[in-house]
Amino acid sequence: MRRSNYFLPTLKENPSEAQIVSHRLMLRAGMIRQAAAGIYSWLPLGCRVLKKIEDIVRHEMDATGAQEILMPTIQPAELWQESGRYDDYGKEMLRINDRHERQLLYGPTHEEVVTDIFRTCVKSYRDLPCNLYQIHWKFRDEVRPRFGVMRGREFFMKDNYSFDLDKVSAVHSYNKMFVAYLRCFARMGLKPIPMRAEAGAIGGDLSHEFIILADTGESEVFCDKKWLDNDPLNIDVNYRSDLQSIVNKWTQFYAATDDKHDPDSCALPDSEIFEGRGIEVGHIFYFGKKYSRAMNATITNADGKEIELEMGSYGIGVSRLVGAIIEANHDSNGIIWPESVAPFRVGIINLRSGDNQCDSACDKLYEELKTVGIEVLYDDRDERAGVKFSDMDLIGVPWQISVGPRNLKNGVVELQRRGQKEIKEEIPVGSILSRFL
Ligand code: ATP
Ligand code: MG
Repeated sequence: MRRSNYFLPTLKENPSEAQIVSHRLMLRAGMIRQAAAGIYSWLPLGCRVLKKIEDIVRHEMDATGAQEILMPTIQPAELWQESGRYDDYGKEMLRINDRHERQLLYGPTHEEVVTDIFRTCVKSYRDLPCNLYQIHWKFRDEVRPRFGVMRGREFFMKDNYSFDLDKVSAVHSYNKMFVAYLRCFARMGLKPIPMRAEAGAIGGDLSHEFIILADTGESEVFCDKKWLDNDPLNIDVNYRSDLQSIVNKWTQFYAATDDKHDPDSCALPDSEIFEGRGIEVGHIFYFGKKYSRAMNATITNADGKEIELEMGSYGIGVSRLVGAIIEANHDSNGIIWPESVAPFRVGIINLRSGDNQCDSACDKLYEELKTVGIEVLYDDRDERAGVKFSDMDLIGVPWQISVGPRNLKNGVVELQRRGQKEIKEEIPVGSILSRFL
């Protein structure tokens, strides 16, 4: 992409409405625009990152054998009346009447819709276990939308729903998701702590939230200080291992959200507990028969008996993750994207646009990188070099190649890694491409 054609409305000044760094940087880097409180448009740069995260999540979900579907954002109220949650959900649910005065709602979550699909389409135990997921928009009329996409009203979520015949198999499905979550977050360069959590409005008794420690997080958390020195990314996580033992390893140290933490029953002394804040990026639930019982979702087992389905649901805050990743990766100049989610992998800075030699060296490099499928942003604008550097830093492109007349005379360009200003390498023009293959 040539910067001169790219729709990237960056801001020089800090927007006054943004209280936390990720929100500030997302606005300044031209990633999002607020349409209404807690409702955002995703501009090209933001959209690219959102899609990268979505792709990682999709890939890891597919690897578990879960199957992607798309359910409607607008749901009929009847299903929620049947499950008993229509009144419980309160004002967070956006309720809508259509022209025939039928009651509809914009889905805050999809347990009811998916249970309805399952009960009408699946009748035999032979179709189990089954895990369906989608990645799309939810709406929750949050009391206090804030911090940009971290607590939006409309937000992008991945939600899975597992269906099993019995508890043993349902816990296996839960563990599979637990492991898939660890893999997803690790690929984004994050180290969340799985914490015992209250199942809340979803219900059930087995539940973990995946929390990234951050002072700006909205969740209050308590965990064993050992978590702070432990490098969870070093634990091998794969589906070939015994899933229960991976889960056990990851839950060996105490970690709980505030609604689950009970100082009286916690075995650790206060001095060993870290009390802090975190960002919830995912939440998984095993809730058994809660919905299948309320909504009469049964299946015939091998003995010909009708039994209620065992279910779980699993969410990842895809749009929240964009903010969370920035909270974990930035400096005073801007965002530092991990390569796996970066909007572009390489940025080319033409230090003297208009100079024939610089222009043609940049054009050639740009075409070569594109040809081998590397996502590249070429700053070809007629702007001062300083402006180009600070823009490239702000938007966090991991690798920056600067091309200037002096270096070109010696046949080299300069390569820098975002976030490691001290490391600058001069590389012969002819071998720069091979650095990225
Ligand atoms: P929270 O406690 O932050 O309100 P929740 O427990 O209500 O979240 P879940 O129903 O568990 O949320 O949703 C799954 C995931 O969706 C959460 O882990 C979070 O990452 C994301 N999420 C939930 N609410 C929002 C929101 N208002 N804005 C952005 N992401 C959200
Ligand atoms: Mg939650």
